[in-house]
Amino acid sequence: MDFVYINHNVLDNVFYIIVSLLMFFVLVDNVKKFKQYRKALLTACMSLPIIFCMKFPIYIDEYCVHDLRQIPVFIGTLYGGWPVGAVLLVIMLTSRFAIYGMNGITLVVYIVIFVATALFSGRFNRFNRKNKLISSVLLTIVLEIFTTYVALWMSDIFVVTEAYIFYFIILPPILMFFMVYIIELLSDAMYIRSKIVKFEKMEVVSQLAASISHEVRNPLTVVKGFMELLKSPNLSLDEKKRYIEHIERELHNAESIISDYLAFAKPAIEKVEPLLIEQEIRNVIDIMKPLAKMSSVTITDNLGQGTVQGNKNYFRQCFLNLIKNAIEAMPNGGELQIVSALEKNKVTVKIVDTGVGMSKEQINRFGEPYYTSKTKGTGLGSMVAVKTIQTMNGKLDIDSILNVGTTITITLPAFITEYKMVQKDSQLKLETEF
Ligand code: ADP
Ligand code: MG
Repeated sequence: MDFVYINHNVLDNVFYIIVSLLMFFVLVDNVKKFKQYRKALLTACMSLPIIFCMKFPIYIDEYCVHDLRQIPVFIGTLYGGWPVGAVLLVIMLTSRFAIYGMNGITLVVYIVIFVATALFSGRFNRFNRKNKLISSVLLTIVLEIFTTYVALWMSDIFVVTEAYIFYFIILPPILMFFMVYIIELLSDAMYIRSKIVKFEKMEVVSQLAASISHEVRNPLTVVKGFMELLKSPNLSLDEKKRYIEHIERELHNAESIISDYLAFAKPAIEKVEPLLIEQEIRNVIDIMKPLAKMSSVTITDNLGQGTVQGNKNYFRQCFLNLIKNAIEAMPNGGELQIVSALEKNKVTVKIVDTGVGMSKEQINRFGEPYYTSKTKGTGLGSMVAVKTIQTMNGKLDIDSILNVGTTITITLPAFITEYKMVQKDSQLKLETEF
């Protein structure tokens, strides 16, 4: 066998397939709508190389057209199952017959390939990466050999040439190996990126746990003290009552710290709803208070009313990350000011710290994943914040002077009239129900 078989036509065919695959991933990754219509997009992206491979084939002999269209058919059917495979089959056969005319062998061969691959697809998608690679290569070899026999059996003039063996039996399994590898690699990368938000949350949760356990220990120590006092025999009823009140108050404090924390640590629900700025930010401030106290940061706030629309969990996480950064920028204490206001149809929130400030590079790279100036930083907090603000159609501006402080300004579109009416209604309902 000769290397003349690898010529620019083969490379062209491979190029169509790779470009279409990359196009699929770029679109799924960047266009929200396509996430729901993955299979439709896969069908569209795989039908392009099918048509291109056929239109610009490797070469045509009297018995068959040599091209690599079977690769996108395999990929589409394996990953998308029979619906994708069926559409691809129809597109492939129609364009094959439109370009080169009707051919019985082609029809039978591709129906065999489609049925076998579609039947295998369910099991294939449950495999791990290694088994996917092995099984797709084996499936391709088996089907290519089997369909060659079918073609030989159907036609007396069909001959298996050296070129046929190379293009239809040797090359496809090798290409399938690389294509499945590329698909798995890109899918993994996308999956991991989608988990980053959760990962960052786990980081924050574990860091908060330390400051919160500290904060819960204080009231418990106080309670222990009063319990000891209660044990003394000659207490007046009045004293007893006062001690018990102290105990109740401290226990209540501890309880509210824990429930705030648990509310935050709960997994996120993907729901978009109107959020009352004042209430949500107050909530975050309460959660962050223990951490602020540990680094002698005093928090002052001036929260105006305003409603925005977004996901409660992401919103909290976003402000938590920003406030946490501000606190971390003041390791030796300082002042943290949080101000929110409603202006026309915009809600602005300002987070002002008197910390170390940010350099030009830090400002430019804010929001970039894994960029951190801290030894124990993740460099993900700002990314999650920026992404959240973006999805809420808002913007985030940074003003910072080194060693003086940083002001982060978040502007979000206000969610006005309709909601207020709904809210009033639901309040009325609540009032009448109870
Ligand atoms: P991390 O906090 O884990 O380092 P982030 O993505 O939250 O990661 O922040 C990225 C970087 O941006 C930080 O390492 C820090 O250098 C800078 N930064 C963010 N907020 C502030 C702030 N308020 N003051 C100073 N630097 C900040
Ligand atoms: Mg951070």
